[in-house]
Formats: sequence, C-alpha cells, structure tokens
Amino acid sequence: QPRTVEDVKAIVDEHNLRFIRFWFTDILGQLKSFSINAGELDDAFANGMGFDGSSITGFNAIEESDMVAMPDPSTFAILPWRPEEQGVGRVFCDVLTPEQTPYEGDPRHVLRRALERMRQMGFDTFNVGPELEYFLFKDKNGTEVLDEGGYFDLTTLDAGSDVRRETVIALEQLGIHVEYSHHEVGPSQHEVDMRYADALKMADDCMTYRITVKEYAMKYGWHATFMPKPLFGENGSGMHTHMSLFKGGSNAMFDPDDPYFLSDVGKAFIAGQLKHARELSSIFAQWVNSYKRLVPGYEAPVYVAWSRRNRSALVRVPLYHPGKERGTRMELRCPDPACNPYLTFAALLQAGLEGIEKGYELPEPMEKNLYHLSPDERRRLGIEQLPETLGEAVELTAESELVLRTLGEHMFNRFVEIKRQEWEDYRVQVTQWELDRYLPVL
Ligand code: GLU
Ligand code: MG
Ligand code: MG
Repeated sequence: QPRTVEDVKAIVDEHNLRFIRFWFTDILGQLKSFSINAGELDDAFANGMGFDGSSITGFNAIEESDMVAMPDPSTFAILPWRPEEQGVGRVFCDVLTPEQTPYEGDPRHVLRRALERMRQMGFDTFNVGPELEYFLFKDKNGTEVLDEGGYFDLTTLDAGSDVRRETVIALEQLGIHVEYSHHEVGPSQHEVDMRYADALKMADDCMTYRITVKEYAMKYGWHATFMPKPLFGENGSGMHTHMSLFKGGSNAMFDPDDPYFLSDVGKAFIAGQLKHARELSSIFAQWVNSYKRLVPGYEAPVYVAWSRRNRSALVRVPLYHPGKERGTRMELRCPDPACNPYLTFAALLQAGLEGIEKGYELPEPMEKNLYHLSPDERRRLGIEQLPETLGEAVELTAESELVLRTLGEHMFNRFVEIKRQEWEDYRVQVTQWELDRYLPVL
C-alpha cells in the first residue's frame, strides 16, 4: 500500500532515522539528491524544501533558479546500504516552482502529464516492465571484466553472483519486487528483472535500481556501468521495455479472438510506437554510445518492425499462453538502461496513445531475421531503420511535434540543445580507430 505522511513519520521514529535524502532527476536522468535532517520532515511535507536549481542540467539558469522539492510520501524507503544506527531514508520528490506549481523542467512531471492524457482517454494504468542490463568491471578506469561467463551461466565463472544476491535483497528492502536475476550474454554482464509496475513507480524504481547496483558493486571495489556498449565486439546493455495498458482492472491490449491475441487498442498502441520510434530514439537511446549498441548482430534491434519470435525486430509480442491475459504485452527492445526512464516511459506512452487516438494500422509481423535481409529487400518490404547516430536521432527529434508535446517547450529546447552539443563534441574527435586505420597508409 502506498505510504502516507503519517506512515513515513512512524517509520522515521521507529528506526530513529537521522537523515532523509530528497531524490529527483535531471533532464538526462542523473539522480540528484540533498539531505535534510529528519527533524525537518514535517515542514518539508507541508511546504516542500527550497533548493537552488541553477546548476542542475536542464533546469533554469540563474535568473529563476529557486526551486522547491516536494517529497512524495508513497516513495519513502530506508536506504539499506547506509548504517543501521542513525540511518538514512530517501524519498522521491516532485519539483515545483516557488509558486508551488509543477516545474516544466521536472522529468517526473513530464511522465505525470503523459499519464494524465492516458486517463483522459479512458485507461487507468500503464504497466511497464523494463529489463536493465549492466556490466561489472574491476574499476571505473577501464573495462577489465570479472569473468568470462555467458547467458544464464551458473558456475564459478560467474564472479558477480554474490554481489547480485546482495543487490536483489537490497532492492526488495527498497520496495522493488525482483522476478529474475542472471548472468547475461556478455562477459561480466548481468541482468536483474523487476516485476512490472505502473509507469511512475517503475521510473522511480529504475533510478533506485541503478544506484543500488552501483552501491553494491562498489562494496566489492568494482564498478557497475549502464553504459550501452562498453565492449567492442560483445553484446551491449539494453533495457527491453515490456508495456501494457489496463482499463477497469483488465488488460486493454488483450483480445481472445484475435490471431495474435491483440485487441484493436493493443495493435494501435504498438503501431504508434513503431511509427514514432525514429523521432523518439534520442530519448530512449540518448548518448553517442547508445548508437554503437543499435547495430546488427548483437541481439539489439535496428529495424522498425514487429514480430512474435524474432529478436532482431524493434517490437516483440511475446507468445500468448492460455490464462495469461494479464501478461499480453509488447516488448520494445531498443531503449538502453542509461536513458532517463521518466522521459522514456512518457514518450513511449504518448506514442502509443497517438496510435490509439488516430487509429494507426499495425503492419503485418515480420518473422524473418531482419539482420539477414539486404538493404534492397528491406526497402521493398518498407522496413525503416533506427537512426544510426545521435546526430541523426537528435535532428529527427528536433522536428517532432510529438516530442515537443511530450516534453513541453522548455524541456524540449534544452534537450535538443544539450544533445546537439554532445554530438558536436563527439563529431570533431579524432579516434584511435582512425589513427590505426589511416596513419600507416595515408
Ligand atoms: N544485450 C542485448 C541488448 O543489447 C539483449 C540480450 C537479451 O536480453 O536478449 O539489447
Ligand atoms: Mg537480457
Ligand atoms: Mg527481453
């Protein structure tokens, strides 16, 4: 059950917590935090806590930088990696202006707005189940792996199993239900899967997940990274995102009489995400490095199509099992775990709703391995491709009316500006690859 202000105060007293960390997120999905004395909590719940937002990426510049962090009591938890004596709690905050109105630069607000549109369209829940993958490296100065393990390996090859166990236990203490955890395909690569939840809780949980994974890796002296493609020639780290829409407690994407077990709502929702995938790429794959992952051959998708089995497509609709109506869903395979989860879930929801509102047609599924089609064959089949670089992606975003509506003008402008700058910084680099390739022969 969601926690109330009274519940939070009782927990703080019972555990004699000393500090409460206020958490919120910047435009790029970096966790931001400040700590208050537990004694300030009453006041904080009543009025929020003021802070200077001028140095937070994507927030306002100096002139209008007074911000208010308003704690959301339903998100309160005790941080399991802090001492038990005089312990530390944390709470996610909504960011408000000094006039106590939602701040348009707050990613949590962007997601809340998307959810509001969903409710106006008659649905009540957007369920999201992301699968965040990550690598464990010896330290943060390099990519020295801890093991040569592979998918589902359970042997002494899996050096990460103790830390993974501690991470899972900590996540459960933080109110996150973990369904699976396993070694992934790459050496030293792991995945811990959370049970699906509504999008706002899940976006908060993604933030919690990333910091928890990093904290426990650090206890072993290791570095956990969500960088999308840290190792050339190995699988990258994805964040496959399973999604479904619920209405009146039942799955609005399910239809028992359809050959794919998808309702018209479900089909239009998927069609919306396919149609808008290219312009949303810079949100769910937001770094220069994200585009090194989205290449053929590493179980990451490249082509804009859907399928039931084939994992080279952008969207997979897992096969229906009788009695599993609630589990009917789509899996979008292109996001990576270094995205801003609030903006990503908001953008995906808005694209899906767009499909429903405008009645987009879902094309036929594509069961072939799309990596093996020639460019001509793909063109004939009308299969588009995700942008190949951040530069291409951000220019598609810059022209997107849907992204403008999703982010709001302030955040849209900041986002495009920041991402263009990142691409520009990268574009002018002279890389080791160029030196190795050209210096000897040119
Ligand atoms: N690591 C793969 C990716 O980049 C996904 C592997 C899998 O879980 O199927 O998306
Ligand atoms: Mg995986
Ligand atoms: Mg998956």
